[in-house]
Amino acid sequence: MAIRIPENLEMLCNQCSMSLEGGCTVQGVCGKDPDLNSLQEALLYGIKGTSAYYYHALEVGYDNPEIGHFLAEALYATLTNVNFDKNRFLELILENGRVHLEAMKLLDKAYVETFGRPEPVEVPTGSFEGHGILVTGHSYKALYELLRQIEERGLEDELKVYTHAEMFPAHAYPELKKFKSLTANWGGSWLYQKKEFAEFPGVILGTSNCVQQPTEAYRNRIFTVGIAGLEGVPHIEDYNFEPLIKRALGTPKMEKVEGGKLLTGFHHTNVLAMKDKLLELINEGKIRHIFVVGGCDTPHKGMGYYERLTELIPKDALILSAACGKFRYNARNYGTIEGIPRFLDFGQCNNVYSIIEIAVALANELSTDVNSLPVSIVLSWMEQKAIGILYSLLYLGVKGIYIGPRPPEFLTQGVFEILRKQFDLRLTGDPEKDLRDMLNKGVKIEEGSALAEELD
Ligand code: SF4
Ligand code: SF4
Repeated sequence: MAIRIPENLEMLCNQCSMSLEGGCTVQGVCGKDPDLNSLQEALLYGIKGTSAYYYHALEVGYDNPEIGHFLAEALYATLTNVNFDKNRFLELILENGRVHLEAMKLLDKAYVETFGRPEPVEVPTGSFEGHGILVTGHSYKALYELLRQIEERGLEDELKVYTHAEMFPAHAYPELKKFKSLTANWGGSWLYQKKEFAEFPGVILGTSNCVQQPTEAYRNRIFTVGIAGLEGVPHIEDYNFEPLIKRALGTPKMEKVEGGKLLTGFHHTNVLAMKDKLLELINEGKIRHIFVVGGCDTPHKGMGYYERLTELIPKDALILSAACGKFRYNARNYGTIEGIPRFLDFGQCNNVYSIIEIAVALANELSTDVNSLPVSIVLSWMEQKAIGILYSLLYLGVKGIYIGPRPPEFLTQGVFEILRKQFDLRLTGDPEKDLRDMLNKGVKIEEGSALAEELD
């Protein structure tokens, strides 16, 4: 039977037996309208993101039952004929933001207590002599188990483990970094994996999203573990990496090739340790603005916006980043402001938690709120964890956030308008114009300060 593309598709819900043929596409038989459907989808996608962080915290033995409870409540709320109250769904979306923040906090605690407090580190990007294992995805638990089993077998000189995409910040955690086999980073964001995995001569391990169906070039040397799965690809059970290690030893040895270095490992604890210096530089106008430019990489051509924006950001501004979109702009030399690197990478998308902690701490020190700080937030979203982060920021009352590279398809114009009016939510547009608008935001920190004069 051919797939029917409904005309005038304003919504698509097919979850119950009252559904019209092909789904309810204009108005639900139950009475659900497109805006309500959009709010329900917005909630469902947000909790998908929350479940990812919750899963990785559970993986290393950390739980907060409040998160599981909310996941159940939110799912139940979207079941047929339970809740037709749009305001209630808006409240649930903000509650999702609060719980998503709790999930990021839990995961941060889980990783810091399990793998140590991150420390800034320059990670090599070349290759080294030995059989290669490339680990992609978000699961530090999987990486830790692999490194531990390599050491247990005394193979740390023969096997070189490389990080890929969101696994890159692993190099900053002392309990991961201590393993000799953790060697370097290979490649950029998930987007280029088919090319980068084909070029990598060793085995590849997918530990979470974003892993794609493999090409023939590397199908016979890729494995998955944990939540990840690929059709026709062996899955590692119970974190027992023996089959992968055996396969890796049978791949051609890589040679030493010099590469560059990428800096990562910033965390709210190591940044807030220099809080007084930061405040001094802000007050003196030496740090004019702080830009949070982070989130996912996507194939959308609008991602060029983030490359251009980070290129244009003036030299007296900091750029705080996290997640894999940064691979488009993190190799540049941004320099420093009085010894503080201008580009600070906080790690995976869940580490936006650290950036929030810093913004809240600075606002408290200045007796103001985050919206009054000279801080602008520009998010790129690909999937649902980034959507959860947006809800967390909205829950915190942050206004004027830019999102791109395109608006979420699941938000109707009506729902987007609600968010625009209530939170001044903006879409990325022209980087030059947006940058001018962002630089005009902020507070006079001190009468007569350089920043105050500039903003007047
Ligand atoms: S829940 Fe409502 S909108 Fe969805 S399929 Fe059933 S009747 Fe249609
Ligand atoms: S930041 Fe987003 S797009 Fe990038 S790997 Fe993580 S989940 Fe995927």
